[in-house]
Amino acid sequence: MSIPFSEIIGIMGSENVLSSPEELYCYSYDASKIKSVPSCVVFPGDVLETAELVRLANRDRFPLFPRGAGSGMVGASVPCAGGVVVCLNRLKRIIEIDPDNMIAVVEPAVVTGEFQKAVLEYGLFYPPDPASLHFSTLGGNVAMCAGGPRAVKYGVTRDYVLGLEVVLPTGRIIRTGTRTVKGVVGYDLTRLMVGSEGTLGIFTRIILRLIPAPEAVRTLTATFEHLEDAARAVFEIIKRRVVPSTLELMDQATIRVVENHLHAGLPVDAEAILLIEVDGRQTVLDEDVSRIVEICGASGSAQVEIAQSDADRQRLWLARRSISPALGRIRPGKINEDVTVPRTKIPALIRSITALAQKYNLVIVCFGHAGDGNIHTNIMLDKKNVDERTRAEKAVAELFRIVLDLGGTLSGEHGIGIAKSPFFQWEVGPEGLETMLTIKKALDPNNILNPGKMFVPNPAFFRQ
Ligand SMILES: Cc1cc2nc3c(=O)[nH]c(=O)nc-3n(C[C@H](O)[C@H](O)[C@H](O)COP(=O)(O)OP(=O)(O)OC[C@H]3O[C@@H](n4cnc5c(N)ncnc54)[C@H](O)[C@@H]3O)c2cc1C
Repeated sequence: MSIPFSEIIGIMGSENVLSSPEELYCYSYDASKIKSVPSCVVFPGDVLETAELVRLANRDRFPLFPRGAGSGMVGASVPCAGGVVVCLNRLKRIIEIDPDNMIAVVEPAVVTGEFQKAVLEYGLFYPPDPASLHFSTLGGNVAMCAGGPRAVKYGVTRDYVLGLEVVLPTGRIIRTGTRTVKGVVGYDLTRLMVGSEGTLGIFTRIILRLIPAPEAVRTLTATFEHLEDAARAVFEIIKRRVVPSTLELMDQATIRVVENHLHAGLPVDAEAILLIEVDGRQTVLDEDVSRIVEICGASGSAQVEIAQSDADRQRLWLARRSISPALGRIRPGKINEDVTVPRTKIPALIRSITALAQKYNLVIVCFGHAGDGNIHTNIMLDKKNVDERTRAEKAVAELFRIVLDLGGTLSGEHGIGIAKSPFFQWEVGPEGLETMLTIKKALDPNNILNPGKMFVPNPAFFRQ
């Protein structure tokens, strides 16, 4: 592979091309900790520079790896075949917020949380809320179709992307979608691009749909002696036409780990705690809250606590927010899977995971977005302990089989990237894989963008 450094410098200036070993190392990994050092890192300043770079890559056949904040959990931005990291950080303008038509046009490196604050000044709301929103970028969110706790009520990133400007893998520039909520002209290329993990194009502009910001939020927690009762409360709440904006579950293993960390008096004998939020018009929230209290009680909750102030709300969130730091204290590493099942199958999933933990003698902690069945399954381990790691690998493979048998999916949020590539075909099947590869080859005949990921099991990097 030969990379034409001087031509690249000619396109974007030497100040926007990095090649020293120290600098390259900084762009060699993401939050998955999978590592591979690129040949150089470039920062294009606009769509034309991006397109010119992509055309060079096709001419000389070197791979490109688009990158936002590098917060991905599956190695999707890691330059696993050397090549060039295309960091979009210079494209960080909010180009337009149109409050009357409730849309915004942004460049890809705008940080999600900052965008949310900017639209809130117009009384508008951009709901997708990955926990990484304070540092991840909208481009990365679109590429991974990021979601968060609010997905149960508001959906995920794909539900807010109206259109894109995309540099295709051959260097051509297309504009997909519309500035309107409706629009049915031709194939929906916007949807094809959302969640494509940087394999089908580089986004240089994004048109986003906004909605009116909710007037108020109410927060409560409900403690359950039995996991099944908590799960029943989850679907009863939604069946009774209250759709919470957050419906988070902590299982018993999580409650105990967090209590050991916080010493906050959490109910360690309970099998589950639900953290529930409703948002909307002030006038209907009181009614929603009393309906939830009634349903939780009828479903067997021993204790329901309603936040009466912002300080109360922060206290109720504290246990949920303390999970990550608490986990860090029990083992030095973890494999964090974001499997998702139909919400009625949550108890079956958690029972199977408890059995897996016993079978493989592992600590496995489950928590997450019960409202949409997205259960973060954390297998705690010391990655340097070969025996423990082998047991954990076996548990992951078995977990994926269980999830698929329950009608679920391998990933509700984090995507496939490198980390889950060995299992990709289990879910999509050989025909699904072939169809996706046909699309990939049609758009990227020289396999320039993000090669060695998603479709291609990449054992060299698997769980480094
Ligand atoms: C602490 C923490 C919490 C997290 N919580 C959540 C969560 O709740 N929900 C969730 O969904 N995810 C979560 N994530 C994962 C991660 O933040 C998301 O996947 C996020 O969308 C990645 O954005 P990024 O800007 O960091 O993208 P990167 O990691 O840099 O890239 C991700 C992918 O997008 C591609 N890409 C980036 N920019 C572009 C572009 N402009 N055009 C085309 N492709 C591009 C890359 O090639 C790569 O395939 C979390 C991560 C961390 C570290």
